[in-house]
Amino acid sequence: MEQERKTIGVLTSGGDAPGMNAVVRAVARSALSKEMRVVGIRHGFSGLLARDAMELDLRSVSEILHRGGTILYTSRCPAFYKEEGVRDGARACRELGLCGLVVIGGDGSLRGAKALFAQGVPCIGIPGTIDNDIACSEYTVGFDTAVNTVIELVDKLRDTSQSHDRCSLVEVMGRNSGDIALYAGIACGAVAILIPEIECSVDAVVAKMQRTLKMGKRHFIIILAEGVANRNGLGSASEIAVQIEARTGVETRTAVLGYVQRGGVPTARERILASVMGVHAVELLERGIGGRIVASVGNQIVDYDIAEALGRKREFNRHLYDLADMISI
Ligand code: ADP
Repeated sequence: MEQERKTIGVLTSGGDAPGMNAVVRAVARSALSKEMRVVGIRHGFSGLLARDAMELDLRSVSEILHRGGTILYTSRCPAFYKEEGVRDGARACRELGLCGLVVIGGDGSLRGAKALFAQGVPCIGIPGTIDNDIACSEYTVGFDTAVNTVIELVDKLRDTSQSHDRCSLVEVMGRNSGDIALYAGIACGAVAILIPEIECSVDAVVAKMQRTLKMGKRHFIIILAEGVANRNGLGSASEIAVQIEARTGVETRTAVLGYVQRGGVPTARERILASVMGVHAVELLERGIGGRIVASVGNQIVDYDIAEALGRKREFNRHLYDLADMISI
């Protein structure tokens, strides 16, 4: 009977990331296959407070697997920082008849899920952010696509920088996490990667370029995470470029990639990660389990207590950084 069907909700929150739609699809399809009802909450926690919900059936999530952004829309919701806001969110879940809620988003959104869980809503968090900055998961939904977008753009810059014996200084996203810069830097053969986790200086970049100039290298790619610019007296990307050009004699141009990194068609790897994480979240809710974060560790999908997982400190992959430095001559 209809009344006996369990209903679960799903929402996307915070910064959008490619692959969020693939999670929504996997959540909806797997829940429906388990005879559950699925409700999509539009506009993240703001939409929850506004009781802005839509029924998701098998067809309503068709043709979204390959689309960037989020069909459920997303938002920042200041009211959720206050206990009263979260309490109203929990009330909304009860009014909507939800016996569980899947929250897809970055660190802030997962904290919102934790707060909702503390108010009695069985919530499952799925890390969805291009920044790859969720400590408990090796990869977040959105990261692989963002890295691939950067690679595609840098490859285009490389053609021209190679033809003109130039240096391209490319600023990529990442205020506190240098993962996009690090992964893209390795994949693009950047001569230097400047990230917030490692103390960097123009001196070190110039010294490395001078060494490689002596070996005959004529064009250079430098990747800079946005969190490094204007920190530790480094100045903006274009100010750094001016210093590099003055000290090496290599014409240096700046490219700030900006929001294009958030969009785009999710990669195969993204769609698969999103799909397995979405299905895992529904399996937990089916078993009546809430208060967990789904994570990818060593190619396995696991889940952790949400409070414990959000309390962890992110470990930076120093080994990967050193490796990049060693092979980029
Ligand atoms: P992201 O999820 O991409 O990290 P934000 O940090 O902006 O983005 O968080 C998205 C939303 O999650 C916020 O607008 C707010 O509604 C909610 N949120 C963030 N931090 C908390 C918190 N500590 N407690 C409750 N809700 C939070």
